[in-house]
Amino acid sequence: MIRKTRLFTPGPTPLLPAAQFAMAAADIHHRTPEFRALYTKVLRDLKTFVGTKNDVILLASSGTGAMEASVSNLTSPGDRVLVLTAGKFGERWVSLAKAFGCDVDVVSAPYGQTFDLEEVRKALKIETRAVYMQSTETSTAVRHNVQGVAEVIKQSGRDAVLVVDAITGLGTTHIDMDAWGVDVLIGGSQKSVMIPPGLSYLAVSDRAWDLMEISLNPRYYFDLRKERKNAAKGESAYTPAVALIAALGAALDYIAGQADGDLAAGRAKLVENAETCAAMTRAAVEALGLKLFAPGSPASAATAVLPPAGMDSGAFVKELKTRFAAVITNGQGEMKGQIFRIAHLGYFDYMDTIALIGALEQVAHSLKLPGFAFGKALIAAQNVFANRAPDEAARKELALAGAAPSR
Ligand SMILES: *Cc1c(COP(=O)(O)O)cnc(C)c1O
Repeated sequence: MIRKTRLFTPGPTPLLPAAQFAMAAADIHHRTPEFRALYTKVLRDLKTFVGTKNDVILLASSGTGAMEASVSNLTSPGDRVLVLTAGKFGERWVSLAKAFGCDVDVVSAPYGQTFDLEEVRKALKIETRAVYMQSTETSTAVRHNVQGVAEVIKQSGRDAVLVVDAITGLGTTHIDMDAWGVDVLIGGSQKSVMIPPGLSYLAVSDRAWDLMEISLNPRYYFDLRKERKNAAKGESAYTPAVALIAALGAALDYIAGQADGDLAAGRAKLVENAETCAAMTRAAVEALGLKLFAPGSPASAATAVLPPAGMDSGAFVKELKTRFAAVITNGQGEMKGQIFRIAHLGYFDYMDTIALIGALEQVAHSLKLPGFAFGKALIAAQNVFANRAPDEAARKELALAGAAPSR
């Protein structure tokens, strides 16, 4: 049979065709009225997509560039910061903060789990300058409680800023940055917004802008104040990734188009879409007799699955790739061989999800999983889909976001 290559990876994710066309047509110079109109619109729409009144800054870098900027712009060497980590991306915060000379306190949770808020409360010190965390830890497919952490910081009376890597959280889970008191919220292009890698963006609170004025760390390319000044004029400080920005504009239009042009409502639908794909996948793998790696706090961005005892998770990755050209991911770093991960963020629909579950049944059959029978995983997923009232879930998310339902 022919095999169509399909990505089921949590970044890069499948590309939106309309965004690819927009990229191909983006033959424009960046110091022109044409570009300024595009850039201004994309920055305004990004604010709506993020769901904030704060300014959003767009950078030509992968997500880690925005993570670095939120360390270099907000801290000074010797500052005490707190990192909440339970996986590879949490560990990246630790390395970054140390690279810029911070004194790093760490609250950690075992891989596959999330933090105890009481430990977070105890770890906050008077001098804690900033708290860094993920919204979803992509390496373990765990969702962290951003609202809970924000509340702990607020109640502590400390004035630490909260910086959240929501690179796979945006578009997969409800986040209300302004109401919760998140100071920096970070996103990346190759995740929920369905375009290639190369752009990162951050929404920044007034408190965080003020903090930048007293930071002593050196910054040049990633000086967010400089970007903000230029953005106000519809420009970026250096040559922007014009084609990716055009793609992002098309993707945000597409997301708005899911809800009659209402981007906030479209984002709620995107979240609900990821939740449905994730719920179908969780039910399917459990019906296959496999265990979820993060049953307590699963992310909707991706699902992490444990292989049967004694089996390398790479067997699933390899079989899906060689037999069906479906690309899923193994565990990262020392998790390699121990879990496999299937993504749901961005441009995935019912058809993609049910097809992957069908292919997973074929793989389970050839790997001779104990108790395997064709149909079990598909039935479980079909039931999840049939029993979800998707519009209701989207309305709930909207109500949480304080936005008016579109119909
Ligand atoms: C993808 C991802 C990043 C960014 O990684 P880059 O390779 O720099 O784009 C950061 N954090 C999380 C949670 C991610 O999933």
